[in-house]
Amino acid sequence: MPGPPLREDITCDVCIIGGGYTALWTANFLKAADRGLNIHILEADYAGAGASGHNDGFVTPTIGHSLGALVTRFGVDRAKLGYAAVGKSMLELARFCTKNGIDAELEPAGYYQVAADTDQIRLLERDLEIAARLGAQSGLDLLDSRAARDKIDSPGIKAAVKVGGALINPHRLARGLFRTVTAAGVHVHEQTRATNVEAVPGGHRVTTPHGRVTATKVLYATNAYQHQFSEFRRKVVPVWSYAAVTQPLTDEQLRQVHWPDREGFVEAGNFIVFGRLTAQNRLLFGGGRANYHFRRDMDEGRHIDNQQATAALRGVLARYFPAWRDVPFSHTYGGCVAITREVVPHVGSLGDGRFYAHGYCGNGIALTHTAGKSLRDLILERDTSYSNLLFVKGKEKQFPPEPLSFLGAKAVTSVLAAQDRHPRLIKRQLI
Ligand SMILES: Cc1cc2nc3c(=O)[nH]c(=O)nc-3n(C[C@H](O)[C@H](O)[C@H](O)COP(=O)(O)OP(=O)(O)OC[C@H]3O[C@@H](n4cnc5c(N)ncnc54)[C@H](O)[C@@H]3O)c2cc1C
Repeated sequence: MPGPPLREDITCDVCIIGGGYTALWTANFLKAADRGLNIHILEADYAGAGASGHNDGFVTPTIGHSLGALVTRFGVDRAKLGYAAVGKSMLELARFCTKNGIDAELEPAGYYQVAADTDQIRLLERDLEIAARLGAQSGLDLLDSRAARDKIDSPGIKAAVKVGGALINPHRLARGLFRTVTAAGVHVHEQTRATNVEAVPGGHRVTTPHGRVTATKVLYATNAYQHQFSEFRRKVVPVWSYAAVTQPLTDEQLRQVHWPDREGFVEAGNFIVFGRLTAQNRLLFGGGRANYHFRRDMDEGRHIDNQQATAALRGVLARYFPAWRDVPFSHTYGGCVAITREVVPHVGSLGDGRFYAHGYCGNGIALTHTAGKSLRDLILERDTSYSNLLFVKGKEKQFPPEPLSFLGAKAVTSVLAAQDRHPRLIKRQLI
């Protein structure tokens, strides 16, 4: 049950709009830096109601869409610093859970980036080359089909590279974070939608249905929902991504597929297929084409139950795990990933006491932890390595207005899908 809404007018030092990982990590780091700060979080539903409580649980070092895109845009040195910071976040996230008694079902098994065909093998080889340029040491080896199937016995997997990381229960992480920051003195108002932000002397006033918050600093932490605020309307678009979860696999079913170390897997490509086992031994998997709906439509009533996506997922299951092809799904779900024009996240300041973070492009579990530190330093006006990371204070390209945005998204997704099917026909990696 969500907590009670804000029902009074208040003043505070920092008001954060949104109650997902970005908001909660930032509040956590701010409070740790200065216990005296009065911080209020406004969440339209409940903390974790957005992507933070409903993602696929791969804790990855990825920044934005892909390593290649990042290096092309920022160069090797800045990409290296960024990856080091997110790598540190992955370790700290695990320690944070232990220290605060958060049972987020964290499995440090990591995951494999896999190739489903020879073209994807080339993509894996390219990523290995880039990783070597970034200084990755040993352990990043391309496993051939036999060695890969020794790890995850799927006929869909033709090669694999082990990537460090972890698997997690995203909802438990979000709720554990919520409990920890609340215990530290951060005020979280659930069922409290911010409907307007306006400048007032000494700060900004955030309006909600039953109360107003006047704050010296305001953080927009609504990621895929960020477009509802006019400043970000054309900077970030929500793109639907779908997944399915099977009923718990029985011991006999588990024996049908050799998967000794329970790592997850993620296909190389633009519209990826991924899969993992959950703590309850359900198979959670997803993938296929992502959809952008006209005018940034995020209406769950219309889009969360998508029969076409469910049918496609049945096909994915049969291709990857024929032995489990008929295992019933306990549920299917969809959620909105936040995409920016250049497919990289953006963290920054509007220069008047307002701050923002958005565009994690489907890779936000560890990255929101790093972004939380960057936001802490921007808000406290500290010049640090975190306030200068590659995704901080960058210039942002905009999407065109509708209907061009819609048509553009359709065209780009078609090209990306074609590139997945025939990578050699399209010489340049688009993003
Ligand atoms: C289907 C799916 C699968 C994913 N899988 C992975 C994965 O395996 N690994 C990974 O690293 N990342 C994954 N991600 C991405 C990751 O979940 C996100 O990057 C991350 O959760 C973003 O956190 P956030 O706090 O910025 O946004 P959110 O968690 O979306 O939080 C934003 C919050 O703002 C609230 N809100 C919106 N408007 C208002 C308003 N006006 N007033 C008040 N509150 C408002 C919303 O209710 C929401 O709770 C996935 C995302 C999706 C959608």
